Amino acid sequence: MGATRTQVGIIGAGPAGLLLAQLLDKAGISSVVLERRDRAYVEGRIRAGVLEQGTVDLLHQAGVGARLDREGLIHKGIYFNVRDTRTQIDLEELTGGKHVVVYGQTEVTKDLIAARLAAGGDLRFDCEAVTIHDAESERPRLTYVSGDEQHEVICDFIAGCDGFHGPSRQALPANVLNVYERVYPFGWLGILAEAPPVADELIYSRHPRGFALYSMRSMRVVSVNVV
Ligand SMILES: Cc1cc2nc3c(=O)[nH]c(=O)nc-3n(C[C@H](O)[C@H](O)[C@H](O)COP(=O)(O)OP(=O)(O)OC[C@H]3O[C@@H](n4cnc5c(N)ncnc54)[C@H](O)[C@@H]3O)c2cc1C
Repeated sequence: MGATRTQVGIIGAGPAGLLLAQLLDKAGISSVVLERRDRAYVEGRIRAGVLEQGTVDLLHQAGVGARLDREGLIHKGIYFNVRDTRTQIDLEELTGGKHVVVYGQTEVTKDLIAARLAAGGDLRFDCEAVTIHDAESERPRLTYVSGDEQHEVICDFIAGCDGFHGPSRQALPANVLNVYERVYPFGWLGILAEAPPVADELIYSRHPRGFALYSMRSMRVVSVNVV
């Protein structure tokens, strides 16, 4: 069994885990990131497309804002469509210059992975059966399997950035777990289409049959709730 010692063991190389590793590195704190999927899968997983100002600021702070500045599409406002009326909300005017940027989560992930690897960060893909041990002790541990070998990462802290279904949530002792959630009685349908943009900014539409969000990058994404 190969063992590694680090200050923070991070489970999950999504935006949260990667950004945490990057910010820790800037603060001189070591980390090891364990990701279940391979690098190509993580870099190609399509999800978010719109970054709020706070996220953009944080990415700059983490030193990964250069390509975002070059390639991100700034949206200075948004449109609300309610029945037949469209209202423009001028974000920049209302907030003293803040806006949202359309820049795919795939690109954020690529930038963060590239930054971690350039800085010599310990980023491990294809980690199977990641398990948390001794969560309530001073020396929590992570084990995982890669190839045919079992590996161990001994940590001061473990950060669970593995989403809702990952092992971290299950490892939290019931007496310290507080869940705050609101469950809405509808789901989302995302449609990705290669088509010319229909508007220059985001559109949020309310309709008696549901809600639709339109955003565009080079493609068009529409999310519709199904009621
Ligand atoms: C369709 C859609 C559209 C969205 N649009 C927006 C948007 O426009 N703007 C916005 O800000 N947000 C948006 N979001 C939300 C955004 O995508 C999430 O907030 C973001 O992905 C959360 O990042 P995360 O790193 O916490 O989790 P995740 O991205 O889920 O990453 C978790 C990581 O943990 C890994 N993992 C899971 N289990 C294990 C395990 N057992 N061992 C090791 N690794 C594991 C996963 O493979 C993954 O890489 C959208 C989400 C969806 C689904």
